[in-house]
This record gives sequence, structure tokens and C-alpha cells, in this order.
Amino acid sequence: MRAPPSGFGPALSALLGPRWRTDAAALDAFAPGAGGDDRPAGIALPASADEVAALVRICRQHGAAVVARGAGTSSTGSARPVGGGVLVSFERMRRILAIEPANRIAVVEPGATNAEVQAALAPHGLFWPPDPASAETCTVGGNLACNAGGPRTVKYGATRDNVLGLAAVTGTGELVRLGSATTKDATGYDLTRVVVGSEGTLALIVEATLKLAPLPAARAGLRAFYADAASAAAAVARLMAQPVAPSMLEFMDATSLRLAREVGGAELPEAGALLLIEADGDPATLPRALDALEAAARGAGLLGLERAADQARAGRLWAARKALSHAQRAIAPAKLNEDVVVPVARIPDLVEAIQALSRRHAIPIIAFGHAGNGNLHANILYDPADPGQHARAHAALPELFATVLALGGTLSGEHGIGLAKRDYMRAAFDAPTLALMHAVKRAFDPDGILNPGKVLPPLADA
Ligand SMILES: Cc1cc2nc3c(=O)[nH]c(=O)nc-3n(C[C@H](O)[C@H](O)[C@H](O)COP(=O)(O)OP(=O)(O)OC[C@H]3O[C@@H](n4cnc5c(N)ncnc54)[C@H](O)[C@@H]3O)c2cc1C
Repeated sequence: MRAPPSGFGPALSALLGPRWRTDAAALDAFAPGAGGDDRPAGIALPASADEVAALVRICRQHGAAVVARGAGTSSTGSARPVGGGVLVSFERMRRILAIEPANRIAVVEPGATNAEVQAALAPHGLFWPPDPASAETCTVGGNLACNAGGPRTVKYGATRDNVLGLAAVTGTGELVRLGSATTKDATGYDLTRVVVGSEGTLALIVEATLKLAPLPAARAGLRAFYADAASAAAAVARLMAQPVAPSMLEFMDATSLRLAREVGGAELPEAGALLLIEADGDPATLPRALDALEAAARGAGLLGLERAADQARAGRLWAARKALSHAQRAIAPAKLNEDVVVPVARIPDLVEAIQALSRRHAIPIIAFGHAGNGNLHANILYDPADPGQHARAHAALPELFATVLALGGTLSGEHGIGLAKRDYMRAAFDAPTLALMHAVKRAFDPDGILNPGKVLPPLADA
């Protein structure tokens, strides 16, 4: 067995002083549960881009792995220091460097949380569209690295659509500047979009120029119940085909609704599916926008529709979605939390396949989420202490991915690939495409030190 790389500790200590931490308290805080070979050698807490570049050069010299860490909320194991190495936390790099309303941009360091950025932007009447449910804790660096999204993606796009430029440190320890601070740019290869979503495998992001949107003055919503998933999906297709873009278009299947009602205590009628629809914009024109969305929501299979004319009432309609989160935890201590995507028109096929999978493996699977993007959370609920349930949940997973790919979909809409889905990349991409991805990885990180083992399956078996 190859000895783990060593010798970089004194150099990192000289570079970072007390911000190179090897004590158990730091290792437990930043890499909880990482034991044995997966325990990082230490935690680096750089305070500047130059320090990040210098630490990567030290690690490269010693052949040590470098794993970036934001808030550690990734559900795919992407921030886990597999095989040890140096965990780089960006918590000391969280400054909001500039907010330029005239240019609709903000320049931020990666360790700022999504919520901190939104709070700084609000007084300027602006916001940054990515809205993961983890916004209070997750960092902009993590959002960029995972191409995070949320309910608003249907109108405003995901992280990749809302970043103009990056400063990043490659695996050779060089600081590169990608993209620009302008909203139009036809200059060379778009490496910003390559690094966004690369999960720390190509470069460490040290600064980002974010593209901002004006904060809508008002929101209003609808809640529509349908007899079945097919009727709801037909409504989604109608909603997406008309000119008023919903600012949220969320779906819950029959199992999710039952769980939210019977376990989560939400006040919900019996139905085969639910759509939560929101519009945002100017208070003067919002009622007309809501009329258009309501007209599109109406159609075959509609059982009932409630309208919330303002934000407070719209919030109450959303209670079913919140109840679902609590209900899941109440019935199963663990879940395989997938975020698959299919073309909107294939949502009924996906929901039907998920229900069949649930029956075949005798395990609860719920489907809900961002219907306007065809991005559904398929959560396989199980008790890890029950070996039978554990085995059945993990047996259902490859079948779920095979179904999604057969429906013309993709493995992940917002959580990314990490370690958990890495080996399914062979099913999602052909060998030449995977080989090209490996070539891109080598161009950024010739020695393979950045977040090794994540995203791409080993080339030999690719
Ligand atoms: C309760 C909960 C709800 C969630 N809801 C959503 C949701 O609605 N939508 C959604 O998209 N996701 C969601 N997530 C997943 C997760 O929060 C997001 O993927 C988030 O973007 C991760 O940010 P983080 O700061 O925690 O990153 P981490 O988990 O620390 O890291 C994630 C990845 O980013 C890399 N990384 C971090 N910082 C940098 C950097 N500066 N440079 C390069 N690479 C970096 C890491 O190496 C790792 O590969 C949720 C998670 C939880 C726990």
C-alpha cells in the first residue's frame, strides 16, 4: 500500500500559522464522521486568493489531495475528503467585495453564505436567483461548485445562469480569471460555465462576479389539485407553453400528499397530485399574470384550485411542502435523496415508474419538486438499521436512474454527482464524452489532486 503523502504540514503551518489546524476538534467539526484513511491530514483556512494558490502549490509538490469545503451541506459526498489530504475551508473568505446596482452585479468571496449575500443585496432592491432550501447555511462557493438551484430556477435559471465571472486556483496553483463583469461576452471559451458545477475537481473558486436580478415587489400564488399525475403534468405543459413565466412551479405526487396530510398534519384534500404555482412582479400587473396562470392550470383532471392574492396567503399554501419535510423524517430515519430530471412531458411516466419501483422493492418512494424544470426529488425512504430495507433501497436506485435516462432525462438537476452518483456517469455519457471530460480535468489539474475520485468514474473503466 502506498504511504499517504506527508511533509506538507510544516509548509502549510508556515504559510497559514494557526489557520492550519490538525487538532481533533477542527477535524471533527469540518470533516464529521471521517475516520481512518478518510480523515483529512488537516484543515486549511486561507484568508486570500494568494494563500489558496500557495497552499495548492505546496500540496501539489507533496502529492496531497485538496478538497474544497463550503458549509458541507452537499448530499452526494462531494465535499468528503475521501483518502485524506487537505480540506480547504473558505469560512475566512466571506467578504462581499462590491455591489454595483447599475451593472446588476455583486463580487463576492466563496465563503459567504447564500443568505448573507441575499441580505446584503436586499437594501439595493436586488437578489441573486439561486435559492436552495439550504440557503441559510450553504455557501456561494458550494452553490457555484454544485450548480445549485431551487424553486425559482424555473423563471430565473440555476447558478450557472447567474454568474458572469470567476477567479479560481487550478490544480497547478495558478490563479486564473474566467468570464467578465459584463452581461454580454463573446470572447473565447466560456470556462466559467465549465468550472461551475465541477464540484471542486477543476479549480478552487476564490471570487465570483454574480449576475443579479431586481427583487420583485410582490408575489401571489395558486394551489391546484388534480386527479392524477398525468393531469398535473398536462397542466405543467400548458403553464410552460403560455407567455407568463411562473416564478415557481412545484409538484407533489399522491404519496407525498398522503404523507404531508397523515404524518405532517397539513390540511389537504385527497388528490392524485398537487401543483404549487407562484408569480412575481409588479403589484399592478400581478393579478393579470395570476389570471393567465390560473387559466393554464385549469383543464381535465382538475379537482380544485385555491388562489392566494398576496405573499402572506401564498406562504400558507406552501405549508403542504413544509409538512412533507417533517413527515419524511418521522417515517424514515434515512433517505436516498435524488434530484432527477426528465423532459416536462415525461413527468407522468417518471411518477408511474417511481410508484412501480416502490411496489416492486416494498419501500416508500416519494416524488415532488420543481415540475417546471422536470426536476423531481425522488426520495427513497428507509431505515439503515434494517438490513432488508437498506438493501431494497439501494437496489431501487440503479433502476431509478435507468428509467430517468430511458425517458431522455439526466441524473441530477441541482445536487450534482459527487461520490454517490459517480459510477452512474457511465450510463449517462458515452466513452468519448467521458474521455473528453477527463481531458478537461487533466488540463486544469494535471496531477489529479483536486477532489480526487469525485464526479468522473476512473478512465480505465469509463
Ligand atoms: C436541508 C438541505 C436542503 C438542500 N436543498 C437544496 C436545494 O433546494 N437545491 C440545491 O441545489 N441543493 C440543495 N441542497 C444541497 C446543498 O446545500 C447544495 O449543493 C449547496 O450548494 C452546497 O453548498 P455548501 O457550501 O454546503 O458546499 P459543500 O457541501 O461544502 O461542498 C459542495 C461541493 O462544492 C465544492 N466547493 C465548495 N466550495 C468550493 C469552492 N470555493 N471552490 C470549488 N469548489 C468548492 C466542494 O468541494 C464540494 O464538491 C440541500 C442540502 C440540504 C442539507
